[in-house]
Amino acid sequence: MIAHNKPTVGKLEKKFLNEVFEKNYFSQHLQVKKFEEEFSKYLDLSNENVAAVSNGTTALYLALKVLNPKKKNIFFPSYSCSSLMHAVKLANLKPKLLDNKKNSHNLDGKIDLKNETLIFPQMYGYPSIIRNKNKSTIIEDACQCLGAKINGKPAGLQGKVGIFSFYATKLITTGGQGGMVVSKDKSFISEVKDFIDFDKRRDDKLRFNFQMTEIQAAFGRAQLRNIKSFIQKRSKIFRFYKRSGLKFIENNNPGIKPVNYRAILLTKNINKVIKFFKKNNVQVINPLTNSELLGPSYKFPNATNYTKKTISLPCYPSLNLKEITHIRKVLDKLKNEF
Ligand SMILES: *Cc1c(COP(=O)(O)O)cnc(C)c1O
Repeated sequence: MIAHNKPTVGKLEKKFLNEVFEKNYFSQHLQVKKFEEEFSKYLDLSNENVAAVSNGTTALYLALKVLNPKKKNIFFPSYSCSSLMHAVKLANLKPKLLDNKKNSHNLDGKIDLKNETLIFPQMYGYPSIIRNKNKSTIIEDACQCLGAKINGKPAGLQGKVGIFSFYATKLITTGGQGGMVVSKDKSFISEVKDFIDFDKRRDDKLRFNFQMTEIQAAFGRAQLRNIKSFIQKRSKIFRFYKRSGLKFIENNNPGIKPVNYRAILLTKNINKVIKFFKKNNVQVINPLTNSELLGPSYKFPNATNYTKKTISLPCYPSLNLKEITHIRKVLDKLKNEF
């Protein structure tokens, strides 16, 4: 069975981890500092614009805490990751769910907010342009979009703050868990750092340990060295699948350069198609099922509709040529069967 998703790791990760073992220093130190420097460079920012944290949900929680909105309503789509709901509730804020744009995996580009806070998840590697004039209350969730570009600028920088996840199967991983908060506003990031740096403080400000470790950072540095080839490989695989002539989620906006985090086949027959792949030893999934929608699905017709037609295929750098060719053959057969 070809797995739907797997991390892509090799010798370089081991080499970087060895450095940590040799130094025998494991809590946040030089590796975290270097990872922040290198990650910020990748986004054309300075190291004062980014804060490495323990995971993506933490990054979101911290973004909310530092944003500290006067109006407690936090808007985000029903069609997203459940971690958004968890972070909002943990921060004692009020979830307000929105429907997707029609026939889209993302929200509409412009949401009427009246200065309330919005979390804008950019799903599957295909970001949308956020068209709100006032972006000071917007958190861009770029967990699935590291490396994508919007009008020439990296995804994650459209709002006041952006978040990234380095979970095992994201575009890069810091060894299973990890995350980053980014902002063009350096003072925002220094508040994030202040929040997680709890040790030896004399004041009684609320803080919490959400720091990244040296092991995570070293792992992430190795992955970051390969990100260009990771993204190219995903894109190559996607283009090969697409030549089957079947319908996939694609980008039609010339201002957007996506990353092929997921190859999402659009079909009316998802159950049949999933079975067909399984019979052919390929694990595919519905990336977001109706029961995974946040809130009651009847309130979100566009999202509900969308959950009924998506299938995510294996599309990750460690797939080998034999596996990719096999999947393409299954796609070609599928085209004739359905
Ligand atoms: C993965 C993901 C998260 C959560 O990140 P974790 O590192 O798993 O906590 C949040 N939002 C989106 C869109 C994600 O894909």
